[in-house]
Amino acid sequence: MRPVTHHEAVKLVEMPNGHIGEGFFATTLDNVVGLARKNSIWPLPFATSCCGIEFMATMASHYDLARFGSERIGFSPRQCDLLMVMGTISKKMAPVLRQVYLQMAEPRWVISVGACACSGGIFDTYSVLQGIDQVIPVDVYVPGCPPRPEAIIDGFMQIQNLVSNESLRRRTSDKYQELMSSYGIQ
Ligand code: SF4
Repeated sequence: MRPVTHHEAVKLVEMPNGHIGEGFFATTLDNVVGLARKNSIWPLPFATSCCGIEFMATMASHYDLARFGSERIGFSPRQCDLLMVMGTISKKMAPVLRQVYLQMAEPRWVISVGACACSGGIFDTYSVLQGIDQVIPVDVYVPGCPPRPEAIIDGFMQIQNLVSNESLRRRTSDKYQELMSSYGIQ
């Protein structure tokens, strides 16, 4: 049989912590599920303005988010597990954003990209939401106006880190339920 080889420049997925013996490898279910989820995140881009353009660059061939297993961009909330909010969110838009979040199945994660999504940015006005965390919980904030694709990728890798280390029981824990209740989500 031909030995399996790979190009040295191709980085293989890191093996989770566990016990290796002759002919076996044992680890926890949390680790295996985390590894699979981490490398198959389906993002839903909620892009309303200029930060969305940076995201387009992040998806394009030079930065290539597909390298992280996330080439499949979805516009169907029911099939995606990472909501990426990029751009200014007006107060009129806030209920729509929240509805999209609610339509996503658990487990779901949220990344807030750019100053506008994180805090309203330069738009300290009557019509702009001063941070999306006023209506939905956020896992990772990416600062910048706009953040460069490297910063978006860094935020994405922080999400991957959270995803791979999240306990399978987190979503049913009292702490998580409290968080959801604080946003009026059952
Ligand atoms: S943070 Fe800056 S670049 Fe991003 S949407 Fe707001 S104004 Fe545009």
